[in-house]
Amino acid sequence: DSITVGELANRMSEKAADLVKSLFKMGMMVTVNQAIDQDTAELLVTEFGHNIKRVSESDIDIDTAADVDADATLTARPPVVTIMGHVDHGKTSLLDAIRGENVVSGEAGGITQHIGAYQVKLPSGDRVTFLDTPGHEAFSEMRARGANVTDIVVLVVAADDGLRPQTVEAINHTKAAGVPMIVAINKIDKPEARAQRVREELLQHEIVVEELGGDVQDVEVSALQKTNLDGLLEAIALQAEILELRANPDRAAEGTVIEAKLDKGRGPLATVLVERGTLRVGDIFVVGAASGRVRAMIDDHGRQVKEAGPAMPVEVLGLGAVPSAGDKLTVVENEARAREVAEYRQTVLDRKRTTAAPMSLEHMFANKASTTIEFPLVVKADVQGSTEAIVNALNRLSTDEIKVRILQSGVGAITESDVTLAQASGAPIIGFNVRPNANARQTAERNKVEFRYYDVIYHLTDWVKAAMGGQLGPEI
Ligand code: GDP
Repeated sequence: DSITVGELANRMSEKAADLVKSLFKMGMMVTVNQAIDQDTAELLVTEFGHNIKRVSESDIDIDTAADVDADATLTARPPVVTIMGHVDHGKTSLLDAIRGENVVSGEAGGITQHIGAYQVKLPSGDRVTFLDTPGHEAFSEMRARGANVTDIVVLVVAADDGLRPQTVEAINHTKAAGVPMIVAINKIDKPEARAQRVREELLQHEIVVEELGGDVQDVEVSALQKTNLDGLLEAIALQAEILELRANPDRAAEGTVIEAKLDKGRGPLATVLVERGTLRVGDIFVVGAASGRVRAMIDDHGRQVKEAGPAMPVEVLGLGAVPSAGDKLTVVENEARAREVAEYRQTVLDRKRTTAAPMSLEHMFANKASTTIEFPLVVKADVQGSTEAIVNALNRLSTDEIKVRILQSGVGAITESDVTLAQASGAPIIGFNVRPNANARQTAERNKVEFRYYDVIYHLTDWVKAAMGGQLGPEI
């Protein structure tokens, strides 16, 4: 891929002469009509303080390609549901009860596979997809990454406990996302259940349920006794109908990574929720900054499937690396194209990381009178759940004087790119049940980047706490 200096100048709305001058300073003698390669072009773009994406939109960044599906190609698709609510109000029980019921009625053997999401089939034939990670943290983290996969939120409120702080948080996150809500009033089997009180408390947060003449559906359930689960599913189906959820199943697939991990035997695995198109075995794709080819797909019952349509979650084998939750998966026409897109995304990612890197530690100390000191870290772990738990635990260690700053966290072996990032910021790298690969180890040795390995989270936080104390020095 190449572009002439003149054309690049055009796209950047800069004077071609200024670009030529800049190139000259970099030691390149080129004229306006000469072509430069992509790396040089990107360097120039950054030099001039422009956003790389804009320039490459039409060339290479497939995310932004204008490919809205024509109305005639759209067919109804299942809704994607996230369950939220206060701790212990029954989110997990409800997810399990819904899945359990469905397995008993529909599947031989009743084997379920936890892949991060599952689909149930209603008596009407309609399907509903549930995300397996309840709670607003995961929901908002996905959203922050641009992955708005949830169509409907089910807010679980225990009838014996009423609205609690996390209920209110869940309400706020749902409202911020503009996602419609259904209230499941749970634990209705308990003698001290007060469903009406829950409805009234919701009024304080401008949620008027149908029982009180509003338009938010409310359903009384008991996850424990499996009471009225079909009522809840019907409410979801009705809400889905109102939303008119549709997608084009007959196109190259696009989806979002729900969760990902490194499996010792099978390599990198990702559960992908297909958003449009149909994902098939053999498809070549780009996910995050890595490419791959679908080697096999496994559904939520542990069965191998050949294809997955809109709103269907499948575990995908055949990835080149472990992606992050929220990464987009896009099927492309061939391997050359996949490599091209993956490489491009990697350069953009690397640049973002290095330019976003904070001051060095020494620099921070020089400023410590005026600003908070930051303690930078890179965190890698074997599974997404651990990464999240560690990041949360570390963030809680921040004080007024010193703040934990996680430059990067992810799943899988420590890579060279982790080391480069850590080196740029003077950060140690924490490996939780993971080790660096050979390249990373060599680069780290050369650049004196420190690795710390743990398999117990509180050992890890103890060390960080001590290291942070050391950074503060005796005078504070
Ligand atoms: P989560 O933290 O929101 O995921 O809540 P859990 O699903 O773990 O449930 C917390 C506790 O409430 C567990 O002891 C459940 O057995 C109990 N529980 C959940 N649903 C019901 C219900 O409908 N009735 C009763 N009596 N207990 C329930």
